[in-house]
Amino acid sequence: MIKQQMLYEGKAKKVYATDNPSLLIVEYKDDATAFNGLKKGSIQGKGSINNRMTNRMMSMLASHGIPTHFVEELSERQTVVKKVSIVPLEVIVRNISAGSFAQRYGVEEGIVFDQPTLEFSYKNDALGDPLLNRYHALALHLATAEEIDTISQLALQINQLLKDFFASIHIDLVDFKLEFGRLADGSIVLADEISPDTCRLWDKSTHEKLDKDRFRRDLGGVEEAYQEIMHRLLGESK
Ligand code: ADP
Ligand code: UDP
Repeated sequence: MIKQQMLYEGKAKKVYATDNPSLLIVEYKDDATAFNGLKKGSIQGKGSINNRMTNRMMSMLASHGIPTHFVEELSERQTVVKKVSIVPLEVIVRNISAGSFAQRYGVEEGIVFDQPTLEFSYKNDALGDPLLNRYHALALHLATAEEIDTISQLALQINQLLKDFFASIHIDLVDFKLEFGRLADGSIVLADEISPDTCRLWDKSTHEKLDKDRFRRDLGGVEEAYQEIMHRLLGESK
């Protein structure tokens, strides 16, 4: 696998071409942003933790039949993935009220829902990733009706698998964001990342936040929270 030119530098990752046109290399950075890039900083060690955590989560999901872009972990920060055309939807699943849900609907954080919620945002930084529904996505030709059905089903299956997994390491999966992409043959696979940047993760007993909210809300102990997640994932005692 030969790494070639950088194709894209995002807020948290760099994406490189390879000598195989159907594969990319993603490199995870320590850079952190919040509020659509308004707040900027760095979380030491984040790139390596997010890379390794994403790959473990994607492998676990793949072993349960979820199609993903994951191919091979190359190094601490670099992973080979299948190149996809990203469906420009941020797919958000929630089990407990928090963040923009709590704000938008004027409810407290921490309400456990009877069943998960599913929502889409239009992945468009210039517009601030506005919330949209299935009809809006169809009107904008962001995805076909069949793709939206597939993505919705996969997102809810992934939620159940992740929720069970996090429960086994004493963590409540509050909410998270997924991105899906199309392979060359048009099939839909899970892409991007699953990490404390993209999930809200609360300790089951203390409800301590072990995710990017510590950075967003200046709660301190940001690096420690990412490390704590990694320790629990690797089953290391502290
Ligand atoms: P952002 O673009 O939001 O700043 P990142 O810094 O995480 O995000 O950049 C990674 C970019 O790579 C994102 O735009 C994401 O949609 C895209 N991406 C993730 N997985 C793949 C893939 N398998 N193929 C192509 N693009 C991908
Ligand atoms: N999320 C994300 N990227 C985004 C927006 C949200 O990864 O651009 C994740 C976020 O970490 C949380 C979930 O999606 O786990 C729901 O986020 P919410 O809509 O509450 O928005 P936020 O409070 O992050 O603005």
